[in-house]
Amino acid sequence: RPRVLSGIQPTAESFHLGNFLGAVRQWVDMQETHDAFYFIADLHAITVNPSAAELRRRTRVSAAQLFGAGIDPERSTLFVQSQVREHAELAWILMCNTGMGEAARMTQFKDKSAKYGESSAGVGLFTYPILQAADILMYQADFVPVGGDQKQHLELTRDLAQRFNSRYGQTFTVPAPYILKEVEKIADLQDPLAKMSKSSSSPQGLLEVLEEPGPLRKKIMRAVTDTGSEVVADPENKPGVTNLLRIQSVLTGTPIPELEARYAGLGYGAFKKDVAEVVVDAFAPIRERTEKLLSDEAELDRMLAVGAERASAVARETMEQVRERVGFLPRR
Ligand code: ATP
Ligand code: MG
Repeated sequence: RPRVLSGIQPTAESFHLGNFLGAVRQWVDMQETHDAFYFIADLHAITVNPSAAELRRRTRVSAAQLFGAGIDPERSTLFVQSQVREHAELAWILMCNTGMGEAARMTQFKDKSAKYGESSAGVGLFTYPILQAADILMYQADFVPVGGDQKQHLELTRDLAQRFNSRYGQTFTVPAPYILKEVEKIADLQDPLAKMSKSSSSPQGLLEVLEEPGPLRKKIMRAVTDTGSEVVADPENKPGVTNLLRIQSVLTGTPIPELEARYAGLGYGAFKKDVAEVVVDAFAPIRERTEKLLSDEAELDRMLAVGAERASAVARETMEQVRERVGFLPRR
C-alpha cells in the first residue's frame, strides 16, 4: 500500500470547512487504500505563539475532531508531532541544506508575516516549510493530500529530498502532492479572493466544524455574493457565488451545472438556504462525536500515545540512516 502523510495545525479551537474539504475528508477516504500517517502539527502551531493552555486545549480538540470525522485509530496512525522528537532534528539538518532565497520565496510566509511586519515575524514562521518537509520525508510518504495553499511547500519538499539524495546518497522517497481540484481552495465567506484560514479569516468569513447550526446558517446567508442575481459559477466575476457553488457541489456530489440549472431564476436567497443546510448536516455528526471524545481526556491521550509510538518507530529508523549519511557518529 502506498503511504500517505498529512498534518493539520492546532491553531484554533475548531477546524473550518476548507480544512474539512481540502484535507480531513480526503484523509478519511485514503485510510481505506493507503498506509496512512496523520498528525496534529503542534510544533508548527507555536510559530504564532499561543499560550500553553491554549495549545494544550487546541491539540486535544484537534485530535478529537479528527477521530470524530472518521479517522480510525486501528487503520491509521494519528499522532501529535511534538511527541515524536525526530521532527525537529531532521528539520535542522534540512535547514542546513536549504538556500535563503529558496526559503524566502514561500508565499505563505508573506501572507502570514503581513500582520506582524516582516522583521518582527518569528524566525519559525520563516522556516516552517522546512519543518514541514521534515515531517513528510521522515515517513517516506508517497503522497501528501493537501489543499492548494500547500502546493509550493510540497515543491520545496521535493527539491530538498532530491538534493539530500544526491548529496548524501538515496535516503528519501520524493513525495507527490495529492490535491483535489474542486476543493483546491475554499474561500473566506467575507473575502472570496482569500482562502478560508484558521488564523487569518474573520469569524464571519469562517465556517467552523464545531459551530452550532444557528451561527453557521447566519454566516452563509450573509456571505458576500456578487452583483446580479444569477447563480452561476464564474471565478473571475462571481468569486463569492462560485465558492458557495463549489461547497454545495462537493458536499452533495452534484455537478455544478446541475446546481446552476436548479437555481435558475430563484436568486441568491433560496440557493444560500440550501447551502446552509448541507453544511449544517455535514458538521453536526462530527461535532457530536468530538464532544463525546473530549469528555474522556485520559482515553483521548491514550489513543494519541499509541499513535506516537507507531510513528516513532518509523521516525527512528529514518533518522538512523540520515545520521549515518550526514556523518554523525553513532549513538551508544
Ligand atoms: P492557519 O491559518 O493556522 O495556517 P489553515 O486554515 O491554513 O490554518 P492548516 O492547519 O495550515 O489550516 O492546514 C491544514 C490543511 O487544510 C492543509 O492541508 C491545507 O492545505 C488545508 N487547507 C487550509 N485552508 C484551506 C482552504 N481554504 N481550502 C482548502 N484547503 C485548505
Ligand atoms: Mg495554513
